[in-house]
Amino acid sequence: MPTMTASAQLEAVASDPDRIASFLSDLPIAAALFDRDLRYVVANSAWLAAFGLSADMPASLRHHQADLAGAAALDDLQQRTLAGETVEYSGDDDPTNGFLRARVLRASPWHGADDDILGIVATVEECSPPLAHDPDPDSLDGLTGLPGRDAFIAQIRAALAASEGARRGAAMFVVNLDNFRGINGLYGVRAGDYVLKAVAKRIRAGVRSRLLSGRPSRAEGDYVARLGADEFGILIGDPAPSASAAESFARRILKLVEEPIVASDQRIRLTASVGFLITGAPHKSEDEVLRDLHASLQEAKSRGPNNIQAWRPALTRTSGHRFVLLDQLRRALDEGEFAIHYQPILRLGDSRIVGAEALLRWNHPSDGLTSPSAFLPILEDSNLIVPVGCWVIREVVRQMRVWQMLYGRDIIEWVSVNVSPRQFNDPGLLLATLTEIERSGFALDRLKIEITESAAMRNPEMTRSVLDELRELGVRVAIDDFGTGYSALGALRHYAVDTIKIDRGFTSRLETDDGGELVMALLRIAQAYGAEVVAEGIETMAQRDILEARGCGFGQGYLFAKPMDGSFFGAYALTHLVQNGGAP
Ligand code: C2E
Ligand code: MG
Ligand code: MG
Repeated sequence: MPTMTASAQLEAVASDPDRIASFLSDLPIAAALFDRDLRYVVANSAWLAAFGLSADMPASLRHHQADLAGAAALDDLQQRTLAGETVEYSGDDDPTNGFLRARVLRASPWHGADDDILGIVATVEECSPPLAHDPDPDSLDGLTGLPGRDAFIAQIRAALAASEGARRGAAMFVVNLDNFRGINGLYGVRAGDYVLKAVAKRIRAGVRSRLLSGRPSRAEGDYVARLGADEFGILIGDPAPSASAAESFARRILKLVEEPIVASDQRIRLTASVGFLITGAPHKSEDEVLRDLHASLQEAKSRGPNNIQAWRPALTRTSGHRFVLLDQLRRALDEGEFAIHYQPILRLGDSRIVGAEALLRWNHPSDGLTSPSAFLPILEDSNLIVPVGCWVIREVVRQMRVWQMLYGRDIIEWVSVNVSPRQFNDPGLLLATLTEIERSGFALDRLKIEITESAAMRNPEMTRSVLDELRELGVRVAIDDFGTGYSALGALRHYAVDTIKIDRGFTSRLETDDGGELVMALLRIAQAYGAEVVAEGIETMAQRDILEARGCGFGQGYLFAKPMDGSFFGAYALTHLVQNGGAP
């Protein structure tokens, strides 16, 4: 008999659904058959009852998306079953989780005669065996229903003991939500709580649905816990996955987290960062495991958002170094070790210095003058950037007043100050500082706040509300590193900005064909929105001339001057002013 094609076989079944349905309806469990696109081929009566379906069936399994832990879970189900795996999903004990509470959904490939995968067979069973080692309910975290940090540490200890002498240790993960503070700030604490519950549920579902090759049953020794406000720990025990399997597991967890969460009528989008390790010789105690998990999480955070990092020894060394730096940075503000350097910004048409960018420097007690790349990430992670950022603004204002007193005139129109996204998440101190400066009689239109495009777009609503307040105060706004984010147009459409700064990366490619075109496109966008343009990183006359010819109004870069300290800059700008004659 000639073998039928996959679609012919599918048609043969679909054209006589009654035959299969009568067989299926006798099955004691809810079962349904789907084609490769998750469209219903047939479902039994137990399935219809489980989902509360009437005679008119929905077209696809996607109809039940909300019940089945979201689109990510369905994408995952589809992808993995069509690749030949059997997967299962189950809910946790969260009473708000309607469908998957106390139920397990299993899906496996539906094979045709010649072993092609024609579609997917799914069943739903009314049971939810607990994860192995679920502790007693009293010790569970009230919000998420997960075990807490202590329980997780005990579990690490047990896993270390169990894997002693084994070829492979256990895999451990720490998952931390990116910018969860922002969620609380923007949507309120209730929505924040809801988000945490939803994430906990998804992580549990992700762990429960994992499949160990050749072992389609639930894995013994899997464990999920809540380690801190927005941090979760996962332990995958016996048998532990390989490093690459652990990484793909982490990626699946991130995909589950990424699905928008609907809370208080808002679609909240989240990402997370993951650090993980597979225990082995370097890990003798739970303290060492936790230390190294956090070192890898920190690395993921600094490369993030949405990043995964496996532990390697260098990370713990870096993390030790960061720890020392953090300690030194905590003192640096009080010890007066921070300084501001100023880099002139010129009008290209007449080469006049109109403004300057304030750039933070740290006079490290032993390493000397240090650039922001070495310490800014630590200031950001530790939130120290909030007080330091306010110091920068006060210091710039003080310096402008000093120049005014020394030279009896304003040597430049304005100074622009970089502001970190953290300062926007927690804008109270920033706005209070500016208000205080205004009350002291300083005109705030002589300050320009630079926020990077990617930071602005990370949390557009919050950014907009802070920018509105800045505008009220009369502060000017520049979008920094324009063109490097993922939404150049979005950034301008949402906010009234005075200035855009074209990133150095574009300036340096100006003389290549596509680089030149990109800059033209960015200039056109800026012009359409009535924003001034500053090109950053101009290093050659050729770049300067091309930019001017194409209508870029302002420039900054080593061609004109490198950043210099306040007194040097004062003398430099004054000389310029005198040579050009007249006011800035
Ligand atoms: P940015 O705001 O894009 O600043 C421009 C950077 O490019 C500065 O680096 C500047 O020294 C450098 N630069 C300027 N012209 C040229 C050039 O012609 N060629 C080259 N190769 N580089 C040039 P810097 O001072 O190391 O600052 C790096 C970043 O650190 C800044 O990028 C800004 O994002 C951040 N930053 C600096 N100060 C502060 C601050 O006070 N607060 C915050 N939150 N961030 C700051
Ligand atoms: Mg800048
Ligand atoms: Mg920049």
